[in-house]
Amino acid sequence: AKKYDIDKALEAFGIKDENLGTSTGAEFFSNGEFIESFSPVDGAHIGKVKSTTKEDYEKVAATAHEGFKAWRKWTAPARGEVVRQFNDELRRLKAPLGKLVSYEMGKSYQEGLGEVQEMIDICDFAVGLSRQLYGLTMHSERPGHRMYEQWHPLGVVGVISAFNFPVAVWSWNTALAWVCGDACIWKGSEKTPLTSVACQKIAASVFEKNDVPAGISSLVTGDYKVGEYMTNDERLPLISATGSTRMGKIVAQTVAKRLGKTLLELGGNNAIIVTPDADIKNTVIGAVFGAVGTCGQRCTSTRRLIVHESVYNQVRDAIVDAYKQIRIGNPLDENNHVGPLIDKDSVKNYLNALEQVKKEGGNVLVEGGVLEGEGYESGCYVKPAIAEAENHFKIVQHETFAPILYIMKYAGSIENAMELQNGVRQGLSSAIMTNNLREAEYFLSAEGSDCGIANVNIGTSGAEIGGAFGGEKDTGGGRESGSDAWKIYMRRQTNTINYTTELPLAQGIKFDL
Ligand code: NAD
Repeated sequence: AKKYDIDKALEAFGIKDENLGTSTGAEFFSNGEFIESFSPVDGAHIGKVKSTTKEDYEKVAATAHEGFKAWRKWTAPARGEVVRQFNDELRRLKAPLGKLVSYEMGKSYQEGLGEVQEMIDICDFAVGLSRQLYGLTMHSERPGHRMYEQWHPLGVVGVISAFNFPVAVWSWNTALAWVCGDACIWKGSEKTPLTSVACQKIAASVFEKNDVPAGISSLVTGDYKVGEYMTNDERLPLISATGSTRMGKIVAQTVAKRLGKTLLELGGNNAIIVTPDADIKNTVIGAVFGAVGTCGQRCTSTRRLIVHESVYNQVRDAIVDAYKQIRIGNPLDENNHVGPLIDKDSVKNYLNALEQVKKEGGNVLVEGGVLEGEGYESGCYVKPAIAEAENHFKIVQHETFAPILYIMKYAGSIENAMELQNGVRQGLSSAIMTNNLREAEYFLSAEGSDCGIANVNIGTSGAEIGGAFGGEKDTGGGRESGSDAWKIYMRRQTNTINYTTELPLAQGIKFDL
């Protein structure tokens, strides 16, 4: 850890103190059990955070609710100015925060920096948005009337996030919610509690300087039980939850029971279709990065490769060959491509999936396995694997959050590939590799990909801030980040104003007194 300046990164955020875990501003308080954070990079103990009790949570929710009442009266551009300053801090602290993300979560340092860059980008977007929260105007059917709609702040937004993007997902939600005039209560993943604390500290320092009311950025810590305080809380009109489909189904039902709104960003099972007209070199780069990047722990990771039979052998051999070049090891060492899985449970899931695909008749092309010895002491380093498999296999239908790539063949026309691609329950990201305009347009048409993200000649993995991010079916249907995703953080109001001395009724109804 010394070699990689982790202590310096920890110091930058002062996260060696006690009682971290619950906060409505610069002060931290927490009375629950300790959650210990171990690095998957080297197995070292990094620090501990106290989880949030029900009483702690009550304090947070009440403060956030009070804070919201004041915050909603700030003008949106004034709120944007606070987000602009927050962004300055992110730029200043990009290196230590990126390093902490890399060390606590296990992604490469480059990816850690990339994640902080996403935070910076969404803040830029949010600042501009703070002057563009537009409503429409309509023509009233009644003479002397004006009709328009406006967007008001929604309230206290609950954000529940996953371990694999421990900081970016928070900012995708909060940067928009803050300019929209909402307060946010965030429960990060219990697997990455220190990065959550670091983010809260950055926000709190800027908010305090600007006299932002307490509770606008609030943090709670713990496992699903703390999540349930939020999903059951009627004071939270919106729950934005990122994680597994299993979690999303529970959250959706709990929140629906009280008629709250949900924004769900759940699992993917993303495929690249490789047609006879694909550029093979780019296909290999896109597929390999998509399958092994972040050790296969992105919601947009490439899980399936659907290859036309005419180029199948060529593509398969090129990818198997490329896997030989992959360097697995400490993600803070820039020479390595692939770091560890998040924890040993995840390693178990990976091994089970490899067993399962063999049992179902899959043919392993690149063997997996857990790495041992010097540099691999955490027990979380695994070899990226490839198996020839069929789409209907149970294991192929399931998202295994690890670097396993399933390759399958299609014959005939693009319609056959499309059927395979759409033939899973998840609907997050998808891609086609082709130089054939007809195939590309078919893929993008109403009959084509059923995913929230559909790419041509780039892979499935990663996305830009400017577009709305999310997916259909078991992926949950939510959209966050760019485009008009901001609307879910606000409530819409339709206003009709009569500026005459008469009171005409709509639909020509007469009501004479
Ligand atoms: P997870 O579902 O185990 O946990 C996610 C979060 O939900 C955690 O904070 C957890 O404490 C909380 N949680 C779990 N059960 C809950 C409940 N009943 N009520 C309230 N909160 C609850 O997921 P994970 O292992 O951290 O992350 C991996 C998963 O996240 C993968 O499936 C991945 O595809 C998905 N993911 C999706 C996106 C997306 O944008 N679509 C982005 C990142 C990750």
